[in-house]
Amino acid sequence: MATEAVDAVLLSIGADLPYLTGYEAMDSERPTVLIVATTGTPVLVIPLLEAPRVEATNVELASWQETEDPIVLVARALDGARRVAIGDQTRSSTLLSIQEVLPDVTWLSASEVTSPLRVRKDPGEVEMLRSAAAGVDRALERIPTEVRFSGRTEMEIARDLQTMTVEEGHDVAMFAIVGGGPNGASPHHEPGKRVIEPGDLVVCDFGGRRNYYSSDVTRTFAVGEPSPEQEGVHRVVLEASKAARGAVKPGVTCQDIDRSARRVVEEAGFGDLFIHRTGHGIGLEVHEHPYMVEGNETPLEEGMTFSIEPGIYLPGRFGVRIEDIVACGATGVDELNRADRSLRVVE
Ligand code: ZN
Ligand code: ZN
Ligand code: ZN
Repeated sequence: MATEAVDAVLLSIGADLPYLTGYEAMDSERPTVLIVATTGTPVLVIPLLEAPRVEATNVELASWQETEDPIVLVARALDGARRVAIGDQTRSSTLLSIQEVLPDVTWLSASEVTSPLRVRKDPGEVEMLRSAAAGVDRALERIPTEVRFSGRTEMEIARDLQTMTVEEGHDVAMFAIVGGGPNGASPHHEPGKRVIEPGDLVVCDFGGRRNYYSSDVTRTFAVGEPSPEQEGVHRVVLEASKAARGAVKPGVTCQDIDRSARRVVEEAGFGDLFIHRTGHGIGLEVHEHPYMVEGNETPLEEGMTFSIEPGIYLPGRFGVRIEDIVACGATGVDELNRADRSLRVVE
């Protein structure tokens, strides 16, 4: 806060609040706002009915009843603050009502203050992410023997992946993307009613949370023997993944990680079909800083954890993505996901 000359930080919905207090605000129209000023005990403005959920002892509670205006409590706690940082996911309705009563405050994003803390995981956090990654790795290893693809819909397979994620030790399964055949060419395809057929490649991207920390992994499966073209595209994506994982070490920039994957894909002639960044940070949130993207010159530091997920997408035909979570270790990559990356054949 001193570096950014910030007088107070306001945190609401999102992961910054639980990162600092262990309490996660409900994503609701009733505002919950933590006010952290440079001095004094932080104040948590919270709906009275949600106050019993708070176990944090490092905050002072200012609970509000249904007939009260929480913004008055926020303004009181902000008394005299001129430069205030506010959580990136806070509802605009909350910010707008605070701005109405405090028109002279200058606003900036709380991530300016919180992301330098959150991007570098301490060893305990890396172990949490490792155990979450190990859980989805075990689920992946079960797929070829336990999950039938052919004749079933993407939705049915997505449900299987979520069930296995929980069976393998997650507290909650957060998402499962299953993109079969042409749907695999849409990186964030919402699993639907399309029935998987022999000859399809199927992109399976899923994850959840274990002890608050996230997992996120992708493997592409072949339903029956893959064609030489499908194998060839998969080989390029695997090479790109390997190049990017191999490039991880302190001092290398995020942009360099993206470039090392992209170079392989470009040299194979598929550059235009790798339509997203190479990766994203992961921790309490599935997507958080730092982002492995052209233009991000942030140097990697020990303890940064992020995905490496190159993909090639042939519109109307098929897609291939391989995603792993890695940590930047003291001298090189520390691979958190280790499940088989080959193009495995399923039925
Ligand atoms: Zn994604
Ligand atoms: Zn993913
Ligand atoms: Zn991801």
